[in-house]
Amino acid sequence: MRVAILGIYHESNTFITTATTLADFKNSHWLKGDAIIQEYTNAHHEIGGMLQTLRENNIEPVPVMFAEATPGGIISNETYQTLLSEMLTALERQLPVDGCLVVPHGAAVSALHPDMDGHWLSMIRQLLGPGIPIAGTLDPHANISSLMVESTDALVAYKTNPHLDQRDAGRTAGMLMCSILLQKKRLHQVLIQSSVAISIEQQNTSVSPCRELYNLSDKLAAQKGVLVTNIMLGFPYADVYEMGSSFLVVAENEGLAKQTAQSLQEYVEENKALFEGEKHTIDQLLPRMKAAEKPILLLDMGDNVGAGAPGNSVHLLNALERSGTYISFCCIYDPAAVRFLMQYTPGSSVYLQTGSREKNHETECFSGKVTLLTITEGKFKESNPRHGGQVNYDMGTMAILKTQSGNTVMIHSLRVPPFSLSQLTNFGILPENFDIIVAKGVNAPIAAYGPVCRSIFQVNTPGVTQADMTQFSFRHRRKPLFPFER
Ligand SMILES: [Zn+2]
Repeated sequence: MRVAILGIYHESNTFITTATTLADFKNSHWLKGDAIIQEYTNAHHEIGGMLQTLRENNIEPVPVMFAEATPGGIISNETYQTLLSEMLTALERQLPVDGCLVVPHGAAVSALHPDMDGHWLSMIRQLLGPGIPIAGTLDPHANISSLMVESTDALVAYKTNPHLDQRDAGRTAGMLMCSILLQKKRLHQVLIQSSVAISIEQQNTSVSPCRELYNLSDKLAAQKGVLVTNIMLGFPYADVYEMGSSFLVVAENEGLAKQTAQSLQEYVEENKALFEGEKHTIDQLLPRMKAAEKPILLLDMGDNVGAGAPGNSVHLLNALERSGTYISFCCIYDPAAVRFLMQYTPGSSVYLQTGSREKNHETECFSGKVTLLTITEGKFKESNPRHGGQVNYDMGTMAILKTQSGNTVMIHSLRVPPFSLSQLTNFGILPENFDIIVAKGVNAPIAAYGPVCRSIFQVNTPGVTQADMTQFSFRHRRKPLFPFER
């Protein structure tokens, strides 16, 4: 038996004006055929889990295409059309297949298709026909649609945030595929969309209130006949109908799937106040940080690269420069600043301006004299289980510099989310030498930085991923939806 593996994977922030293009996929991962096997066989990634499970069951994996870009703005029509037609053509060349394992994120938006994942999954269904099973994985930040569910037989979301069980989710999806193909099982999946949108900083699965929700989910998954209980935490930065939390259950009969999904929905709706959280600005947190054990992980929620933000906010850098109390490290995405710095040799003292330069947005710049320490190519590898499950990262050309207040800044020319400590240690930056490590994220960076940081603070900073979702104007979301309608 032969099972195809394919996917287009993106989390699209519709509040960003810059589109995600083919170049963004090329700069991240756009792999075809055996290159997929090479990249992911040993990775802590769902494709690694899928490959392992198929092989253990003597099913031949047929890697087709996998394209993934760092979260960003809406995918341009041209980009989506190119990715989709290349994926369909590559799949057609491999037909017939006995099944298909799919790897959507679940929160992709293209200019023409607000439910882009639903659209490409339905195209795969159309090409394969109703008799060929389609199973796959989802990121729990999926804003899942009925079309995604109708187009597939079984979907499995990661159960952790930071996402550390991606490989396990791939194995579960692979096992469900095997149960359909080898044991001729018929699966039913039921989706229920709740009336609660969960605030981003309340989405860490190892602490309250998510821990209790996932405990309930595990209990429900242990019922006879229930195969998978999926909690979609939802992705708040997308103005689409599906935005918000939802529950997807795969079971041996439809009634049981529905009843189980309803139990999860009721729990979240009854406890909705817990999922709203409290937000704190840097000025509120600075005095509290004095007594905290160092190094501190300071999470810049408004410039969350893993949720699409540019990664160029200097809001926290400027606050730390003003306070002058702590020695800190932070990363800034600024290709123009890197090009400017490339004119100088390490050791040079340079007057630098960096930070957000976007028009029509409130801009905040860092400007001052800095000492250039290093200019180098920013490739690094991650072999531990970390959020995202990627192995190979590339920041493009990057520079490391020191400000006059003694803060260290890494400026890079390709957008990379802070999911790996190697981004620092590979270039001689040692976390223990700092009071504060700034990471542009909310929960995901905790997997990488938690082991070396003694305290963690999530900061309500401005930006296209600010933590308070009620500050964005939505036109397409479902109603009523907490916390918009209370
Ligand atoms: Zn996610």
